[in-house]
Amino acid sequence: MVLRILPITLQCVGTASLRDNPAMTRSNHRQPQLDLGLTWRNSFAQLGEDFYTPLEAQTLSAPYWVGRSPAVAREIGLGEEWLASDELREALIGNRPIAGTQPLASVYSGHQFGQWAGQLGDGRALLLGDTSDGLEVQLKGAGLTPYSRMGDGRAVLRSSIREFLCSEAMHGLGIASSRALCVIGSDAPVRRETMETAAVVTRVAPSFIRFGHFEHFSYSGQHAQLKILADHVIDQHYPQCRDSGQGNPYAALLRLVSLRTAKMVAQWQAVGFCHGVMNTDNMSILCLTLDYGPFQFLDTFDPAHVCNHSDTSGRYAFNRQPAIAYWNLSSLAQALLPLIEDQDLAIAALDSFKSSFSNALEALMRAKLGILASDETNQAAQRTLTEDILTLLARNRVDYSIFWRRLSHSGAGRDTGAVRELFLDQAGIEAWLQRWTEGVSAFPADQVSALMLRSNPKFVLRNHLGEQAIRAAKAKDFSQIDALLKLLESPFEEHPGLEAYADFPPDWAGTIAISCSS
Ligand code: AMP
Ligand code: MG
Repeated sequence: MVLRILPITLQCVGTASLRDNPAMTRSNHRQPQLDLGLTWRNSFAQLGEDFYTPLEAQTLSAPYWVGRSPAVAREIGLGEEWLASDELREALIGNRPIAGTQPLASVYSGHQFGQWAGQLGDGRALLLGDTSDGLEVQLKGAGLTPYSRMGDGRAVLRSSIREFLCSEAMHGLGIASSRALCVIGSDAPVRRETMETAAVVTRVAPSFIRFGHFEHFSYSGQHAQLKILADHVIDQHYPQCRDSGQGNPYAALLRLVSLRTAKMVAQWQAVGFCHGVMNTDNMSILCLTLDYGPFQFLDTFDPAHVCNHSDTSGRYAFNRQPAIAYWNLSSLAQALLPLIEDQDLAIAALDSFKSSFSNALEALMRAKLGILASDETNQAAQRTLTEDILTLLARNRVDYSIFWRRLSHSGAGRDTGAVRELFLDQAGIEAWLQRWTEGVSAFPADQVSALMLRSNPKFVLRNHLGEQAIRAAKAKDFSQIDALLKLLESPFEEHPGLEAYADFPPDWAGTIAISCSS
């Protein structure tokens, strides 16, 4: 019996014929290996070559540093001094192999904009391996792979800067994300809508395995490989799924991924983050925010905002993200069915998303409102308080981050002038503020303010900030990238003197159009 949760057209995918691509000449084999003093485990490589193709990066000439994160260097146990070294720059642009790594391009599939797209990745990222701290290191934009399809295997400077900054911004906000060690540029031309230049982002995460990896093996009928992949993920990252009492470990995996995805998406909604391209290949099995493309932090609050210029139907609009996450989890459930073997079990695991998403979002919104404690009797009123302010913010086209930060600074309602002036509907905000002030009056004002100031960031990576840093970087001025990185690593702190980065967006911000092109 074939079990179906989603009406998916299955498509066989094969990879063997892609392996001998003559365009993929590698010229860096002669260069000596660089020893970074790290211990590499290469866990993914041990899965076998059904899962990837081993290969080296393609070279890029005259590399230059664009952005570097000492914090991420520390995470992987790399001495900070390496971030000033020409050798590391050569290695991470792909010109020099790193001793102990087994570089590979992994293969995955996915649903793009709701349609099964078959094999589509990884056409431009090379996994170097995982370090003894259990973190995988990847080079994104490292050149052609057997999976590049019609692409060039490259990433452009513009999108690489956005990915670097946003990875670290999300981490600073306390939202699970892949991290970024550095961006290295080259003036090698890359054709997109216009001619641009190449860059490579070194990304770091405990795993880069996506829902799309499971879909790849499931929908092509490679169920033995599907099991190897699921067992790998469980053994490395979700060992609790094997505890007795959890039942089927693959259903337990689906349940945990559903719960964690719910938490991650709730955090996106609370902070006003729009991912922009929530295809199943961009969904991490570890529930990390992954693959930063046309993302946007909301400026004015528009629940139906679509940040991806290529998303003409609005599938990935801000307020559709929770439903899309559930849809993507359904695809994962479908892919895991050959291992779960029981449709009801899969649906039950999947459905944990719904209540955990609502609970997580409500808790986050309570914290944004400064509500220190909550019980069943006042939760309905708090829910209405949240719904009402979101309606007012949308109707008055109020800047989302600025509103919350000003409210946090109002001394639990003692001085609300700076909040009121954001609204045209003065009576509406007056009435709401009164209800909110009463709601938080049960708690000590200093504790309310403290909770709000650590729940409502002062700094988010607005599109225009990224754009300004990109424009300067194109002129070889990387100082704005450094400045933004510092701010975004601690976005809840005041950073006196840097208020301009927390200000309203300029008028031209509304004209920035970010598409899937990267
Ligand atoms: P994205 O929408 O950026 O997540 O891309 C979807 C998939 O297409 C990814 O898995 C990439 O591996 C692949 N891809 C994107 N851009 C390129 C490119 N320039 N060259 C080769 N493959 C690409
Ligand atoms: Mg992607």
